[in-house]
Amino acid sequence: MRRGRILIVDDSASVRREVLQALSTTDEFEAFRECEDGFAALKVLTEFRPDVVICDLVMPGCDGITFLRFKGSRTDAANIPVLMVTSADDTDRKVEVLERGAADYVTKPFHPRELLARVRTLCKQRLLQEELETANTKLYHLSCTDALTGVFNRRHFDSTLEAEVSRFLRYRTPLSLILVDVDHFKSVNDRFGHTVGDNVLREIAMVLKTVVRKADVVARYGGEELAVILGNTGESGAVILAERLRVAVERLEHRTADGRVFHTTASFGLSSLESAEAKVTCESFLTRTDEALYASKKNGRNRVAVWNSRTAA
Ligand code: GH3
Ligand code: MG
Ligand code: MG
Repeated sequence: MRRGRILIVDDSASVRREVLQALSTTDEFEAFRECEDGFAALKVLTEFRPDVVICDLVMPGCDGITFLRFKGSRTDAANIPVLMVTSADDTDRKVEVLERGAADYVTKPFHPRELLARVRTLCKQRLLQEELETANTKLYHLSCTDALTGVFNRRHFDSTLEAEVSRFLRYRTPLSLILVDVDHFKSVNDRFGHTVGDNVLREIAMVLKTVVRKADVVARYGGEELAVILGNTGESGAVILAERLRVAVERLEHRTADGRVFHTTASFGLSSLESAEAKVTCESFLTRTDEALYASKKNGRNRVAVWNSRTAA
């Protein structure tokens, strides 16, 4: 675990020195910063990124309570714990400080060991919370990612499509979906082995991801099928992109285990929802995009087929 960073806010230089001395008896903190009042402290929060703020309650300019209020309204700082240093041994004041968002308090004159113990506890909690958040973020990414290709997995695809179709139904912003199926992939496995087949899938997924816009969602839909959700994109734009993807896949160079270069192609089925669309569900949108993919296969593969209500089965 990393070591904590401590911000000391007090208008009295001698109190700041006492605090610093109390906390410098161990090497468990990485850095200290001193500020003379709450405004100065608010300014350094983003740059210094403290894990604990030790703040005097009574200061000219911006006092401890005002500091708490401003800090609490900032998304980058709201969770940083504040240890309030109060001079009066006044219960109402202590209760108020806690109610206003301080994590804890000490009364002046404080005992150095007590101060250290309180800061240590707050700092540990803060660092543990940070580790937990990092682990959660990692887990979230893992739960959305396909292990083989590194693009989004089916689960994330399903929930994104659901959300995008709902958005279309509410706001009528255009939406397009492309299903991609590698051509004769079984023969890639048969000729070059499963490991090379896996590499081909990975490389195709990566090239799709590189060509689309950042906001578009590339996912592994099933075995050797990939999908691209294009938010805010109507049919004409999606056709241009699908064609670009088709060419990019066709040009990709894959290698066999002994280094020979080979190429593959993929078939693309495309369907779009545009403002005239009346009733549609995720299922019907997927079904008709799959119909387009089927047409692309039937008409010779390595091509883009667009679903069309007039030609649909
Ligand atoms: P088509 O052009 O009609 O799509 O022919 P195809 O051979 O690609 O289609 P088919 O559905 O017959 O075969 C798909 C193959 O994809 C069979 C399956 O073993 C292979 N496959 C599915 N998932 C993976 C994977 O994760 N890795 C590898 N290497 N192969 C996979
Ligand atoms: Mg398939
Ligand atoms: Mg296939």
